[in-house]
Amino acid sequence: MTVITRFAPSPTGYLHVGGARTALFSWLYARKHGGTFILRIEDTDLERSTQESVQAIFDGMAWLGLNYDTEPTFQTHNFPRYKEVIGQLLETGHAYYCDCSKEELEILREQQMAAKEKPRYNGKCRDANKPQSDKTVVRFKTPVDDAITIPDLVKGDITVANKELDDLVIARTDGSPTYNLTVVVDDMDMKITHVIRGDDHINNTPRQINILKALNAPLPEYAHLPMILGSDGARLSKRHGAVSVMQFRDEGYLPQALLNYLVRLGWSHGDQEIFSIDEMIEFFDLADVNGAASTFNMEKLLWLNHHYLMHSEPKEIVPHLVWHLAQLGIDAKHEEVDLIELVKAQRERCKTLVEMAIASVYFYREFENYDEKAAKKAFAEGSDKVLATLKTAFAKVPTWEAEALHDVVKNVAETLELGLGKVAQPLRVAICGSGVSPSIDVTLSLLGREKTLARLQRAISHIQTA
Ligand code: GLU
Repeated sequence: MTVITRFAPSPTGYLHVGGARTALFSWLYARKHGGTFILRIEDTDLERSTQESVQAIFDGMAWLGLNYDTEPTFQTHNFPRYKEVIGQLLETGHAYYCDCSKEELEILREQQMAAKEKPRYNGKCRDANKPQSDKTVVRFKTPVDDAITIPDLVKGDITVANKELDDLVIARTDGSPTYNLTVVVDDMDMKITHVIRGDDHINNTPRQINILKALNAPLPEYAHLPMILGSDGARLSKRHGAVSVMQFRDEGYLPQALLNYLVRLGWSHGDQEIFSIDEMIEFFDLADVNGAASTFNMEKLLWLNHHYLMHSEPKEIVPHLVWHLAQLGIDAKHEEVDLIELVKAQRERCKTLVEMAIASVYFYREFENYDEKAAKKAFAEGSDKVLATLKTAFAKVPTWEAEALHDVVKNVAETLELGLGKVAQPLRVAICGSGVSPSIDVTLSLLGREKTLARLQRAISHIQTA
């Protein structure tokens, strides 16, 4: 049997990290079993679905690297097929027209509530053989006896008695299909073998199984993933911070770090924390997904991000850094500043790509002002002379490489009989504008001779006119 999984988001907002985790688990399961992974856009709610949300899903999936094996499908393109299946269910006696009015149903609901009963349709039209009209919906005839057991791969068996379920609407008065119908038809036609989705759909599953049975369709396996909570125990939402995948990109996370974080959110493999994509695929198993909700921990994500900044190949980080520099209006070209070396120089002290980009601006662009505190300390009396001596030496140094530059700084300190710090610190503030930078020789080598000499001149004039 070929495994076929799907991710079936409704395009009604951004791609939430909870959705991304569902997508990741479905993707991993398909990849692990050499199967097929499908992206299905569930856009039948015409009022709430937007093109921007569809794009956000595509962008999020692409950024995370969760590729799908077929063209994405759209439920709005599949209405004739849903209509056909509704017709089939009517024909085989598994569905019927119902003309109960909204008002009637509301009264029924109030009566049931008053009697402390679960509000549900009472089956009034079930055997009434009502003809179709522009006031009729189509309801599915839920079997009256029996129970449905979902052999859930994460939560274990979940049994629901059919008498708990009522006859759900599968087509509205305008003939448009409802969610449970469209999901069933697509899962059946796409031959989905494993439905992996959030546990907020558990209530729908027995209904969907009943419809599948009525259609004589094979049942997929189900895996319902527990919720993701914020630090206060409430369902993870915007007020806990970033929740959309693209916001994590904007805040400077690497896709690999977010994936690694998400895979561990409810799934474990011994006590391993760091997983390459290949390891995720190799080790992932639905049986190891925890049935209980997990809590989103930003600190841990940040820690993972720093881990990936430190341990990834610098060339893999470069495009991300370039993207973040572009957000700051900088067109970072490798010929101007060696980007591989820049990543290597910056990554130790940066936990996010945003931090790394901000800390790298001075390589490309003159800073506006000197950091006041740093300048006050470093540009003490006589420091203009130190900088002038450095400038002369840097103008002459034959090779602009970290080692040679280090020697220049050391020799100037010796000649002027000053401690290394008394030379390096004014130099650092002169070229970076602040007292923080990677090691001074590496910083200089990245910056290049021309910018170094210009900034030294700027600092000398600054000190002399102060
Ligand atoms: N479209 C549904 C949602 O966004 C998911 C349906 C499913 O996975 O079966 O929540």
